[in-house]
Amino acid sequence: MQAPSVGGVRLPKGSGETIRLPRGASLTDFAEKINANPASLVQVLFHLGEMVTATASVADEVLELLGNEMNYNVQVVSPEEEDRELLDSFDISFGDDGDEEDWVVRPPVVTIMGHVDHGKTRLLDTIRKANVREGEAGGITQHIGAYQVQTELEGIERPITFIDTPGHEAFTAMRARGAKSTDIAVIVVAADDGVMPQTVEAINHAQAADVPIVVAVNKIDVEGANPAKIRQQLTEYNLVAEEYGGDTMFVDISAKQGTNIDQLLEAILLTADAALDLRANPNMEAQGVTIEGHLDRGRGPVATVLVQRGTLRVGDSLVAGDASGRVRRMVDEHGDDITEALPSRPVQVIGLTSVPGAGDTFLVVDEDRVARQIADRRRARERNAELASRRKRVSLEDLDAALKETNTLNLIIKGDNSGTVEALEDALMKLDVGDDVDLRVIHRGVGGITEGDINLAIADNVIVMGFNVRAEGKATELANREGVEIRYYTVIYQAIEEIEQALKGMLKPEYEEVELGRAEVRDVFKSSKFGTIAGCLVMSGEIRRNARGRLLRDSVVIADNLPISSLRRFKDDVVEVREGFECGLTLGSYSDIKVDDVIETFEMREKPRA
Ligand code: GDP
Repeated sequence: MQAPSVGGVRLPKGSGETIRLPRGASLTDFAEKINANPASLVQVLFHLGEMVTATASVADEVLELLGNEMNYNVQVVSPEEEDRELLDSFDISFGDDGDEEDWVVRPPVVTIMGHVDHGKTRLLDTIRKANVREGEAGGITQHIGAYQVQTELEGIERPITFIDTPGHEAFTAMRARGAKSTDIAVIVVAADDGVMPQTVEAINHAQAADVPIVVAVNKIDVEGANPAKIRQQLTEYNLVAEEYGGDTMFVDISAKQGTNIDQLLEAILLTADAALDLRANPNMEAQGVTIEGHLDRGRGPVATVLVQRGTLRVGDSLVAGDASGRVRRMVDEHGDDITEALPSRPVQVIGLTSVPGAGDTFLVVDEDRVARQIADRRRARERNAELASRRKRVSLEDLDAALKETNTLNLIIKGDNSGTVEALEDALMKLDVGDDVDLRVIHRGVGGITEGDINLAIADNVIVMGFNVRAEGKATELANREGVEIRYYTVIYQAIEEIEQALKGMLKPEYEEVELGRAEVRDVFKSSKFGTIAGCLVMSGEIRRNARGRLLRDSVVIADNLPISSLRRFKDDVVEVREGFECGLTLGSYSDIKVDDVIETFEMREKPRA
């Protein structure tokens, strides 16, 4: 049998075997897998109408198409799968708690959610302040993104970990990355306000993630507060209070006055004990999730991580997302240095070489070298995926059109911490200026704007946004040279406003027809010089030279979009003729004009955008 060929290029021929390629792979990667010459794959794609270089990332469907052509079954591997395989290749498995004999009880990790203004922040503050340690002034002094407090239950001191970023954003961001960081959700409902849309959303999130709920009915100090009504309302969402025979604990609190905070903490522990078996293996290399990361002027990249299993120690080699390094110092929420952190312990880590994102998993490995390799591979993969998603399928025919019609505004967002970067991206993605323009964030990260960012921006219509950060090194120079626009912001809403304006500016103008006037034909002359001249009476509005006209006969459009190319009153050329006056006009070279025809003139005007 002959090898298949496209456009005269002889192709390597598979026999239907499966080829696994990572998302964003290049033709060179593909060629390597099937022992072919990358140049021949480039040529084949060219004949299939795709122009791609050998080393550029290629979209999933293009890889599949090419595979089909050569009788290979191409499987594009998802980033998650790929990451598992990457770790596998180092003999690491994330999420495996090891030998059950080693497991010990660990504290619950709690996220506080609820409607805006119902008191989430205040509650987190009150709990933080109430937990001043014996003999220490100030208690929890540092906002590191999470903290642990001690509470006594049945004579035993037990810790509880709170994620210190209220709201669903953090919760969903982590869940979106597959990191389950929360064991219990406290849903705060203000007793003077009741169940609101975000209350429901929070309940949905928690229930979807299978996370038990404790309800804190807040603001009971406010006059008119009606805690019983909240219990009533929540039965609709399958949250039935224990006192009504259900299994959800409700605690009436005042975050402002510090009322019943101990009871709330107790309820959290009781719910954890009843619904969950929270255990982890402390005798292994630490693994967990990044809660927050930012760039500190003095200390460099700083990340707060939540240890989920194992014990994290100073000196450990660590990889978190695509950041790696060695734990130089660990600082707790009291600002104290600690040397080891057990499961459910949040701790600030100093010593990474870059800033991981909120929700990135972290793990400890044997050697710095391994950490670096994993981080490098992840970074390369991310960049490839970004490049691939950016590359549109453009065939030779519509390349031109596609270039003219790029109605996508691409953004690169850099900021001083992962929380703001995510908040900004979220807010921008919610901008709605219709279907005609698209906003895409092609890269985001914490830290200054680098040459790498600018290089990524060069190809397309990309604006680089710096939020509380500046361009570093030669990035400004490169941007100026390549005409890449960098914009700096320190206020979120300002950033959002400007981008919204930019998007609106990209909208193609919309035109609408505005009627100018109507004239009736009273006479028709033929002139060797001007062609067919219509002698008209203007019935309404005005007739303007160079406006567009249409010809109607018995209310039927005979001809459309004709220019009023000459306009005269008696012997004089005029610009316009008003209602009630007579005039002579020509409709370009159009000659089929009859007495009693009606000429309607109009103008296309740009429609203002809302
Ligand atoms: P969040 O948007 O859910 O984080 O709500 P905040 O914690 O910012 O609280 C919103 C407002 O309610 C603030 O002015 C708080 O001081 C107030 N607040 C919070 N808890 C209580 C409470 O128990 N009683 C009263 N009276 N006000 C409260």
